[in-house]
Amino acid sequence: MSGPANFYAQDASARASWRLAVLMGANSRTYKFALGQALLEFGREGQETVPLAEFAAIYALGPVRHAAHSPQAPQGEKLGENDFLTIAAEESTATLEADYPTDRLLAAAVRSMPTMVMQKFHNLRSDTAVPHAFYQLFGTGQHRSVGLTPDLLQLAHSEQAPSLAAEVGARWNIVETSFAAGIGRSLVEEGVLLDWDTLQLTDRRRRRSVTGIIEATVGFQHGRCLICDDVLGMSDGIAVEHVFPFSLMRSLESVDSWHGPDLDSLWNLAPAHAACNRTKSDRLPHTLELARLAARNEAIMQSPTLSAAPCNTA
Ligand SMILES: [Zn+2]
Repeated sequence: MSGPANFYAQDASARASWRLAVLMGANSRTYKFALGQALLEFGREGQETVPLAEFAAIYALGPVRHAAHSPQAPQGEKLGENDFLTIAAEESTATLEADYPTDRLLAAAVRSMPTMVMQKFHNLRSDTAVPHAFYQLFGTGQHRSVGLTPDLLQLAHSEQAPSLAAEVGARWNIVETSFAAGIGRSLVEEGVLLDWDTLQLTDRRRRRSVTGIIEATVGFQHGRCLICDDVLGMSDGIAVEHVFPFSLMRSLESVDSWHGPDLDSLWNLAPAHAACNRTKSDRLPHTLELARLAARNEAIMQSPTLSAAPCNTA
């Protein structure tokens, strides 16, 4: 089985489909995350049908806010004059002042969404679609509307809804950072450092915080604790677990120098309940924990921005 199929097999649910779309779908732009945030927002309100123009107003605000600090397309890509990002840049000041898209930006969103992001959201890289659909488009012209599916409405009200929203935000930050840095896979392998005081991943080149390590990684472990495999609620105490404990390195240092991989890197760090993390303390991981870590890391490596960067020369 391929990585996405493995990921889905671990938890064959609408929630896993959503995570496949957000975490492992292709990203030539960041539109998917703007759509994901708008879907969760309208889903929370429980609206089954939303006029496209109303939906597009929420959708269009995201890229304008994000573009104020990071690129929303790979660096060096030429944007046409009718490109949504070109119009978003031109309408940025007025949109941010009003905290609402200008008529021109809204019209551009309504025009581009049905043929671009709304066609692509459910697709994986191979152009296969995830097993669940979260919306449908109805009607034509001025009367277009977005129908939210029961799967989306259920997700938006589920125990993991706050985590799903945080994951979209974290993923957006990671993808735009990879656009800014012109690197892909190495962003997570080498390009980020973890600040242990704030639990923020920090971009080495731009020397700024990218996103929280918990939000960035928890979706790849299905929102579950690496140690006990129960759901990690965003309001639970969450710790970042060294799956292979630091003590391993320290104990060997006194005998011989440590020749293993860096235990302080992303591959060895996983969200866990604070209580589970305290109980595990310095023991070595059990077989099941190792299997969960391997599956989680495989899913991270399947994430396209981390493995197929636009400017990756590797
Ligand atoms: Zn736990």
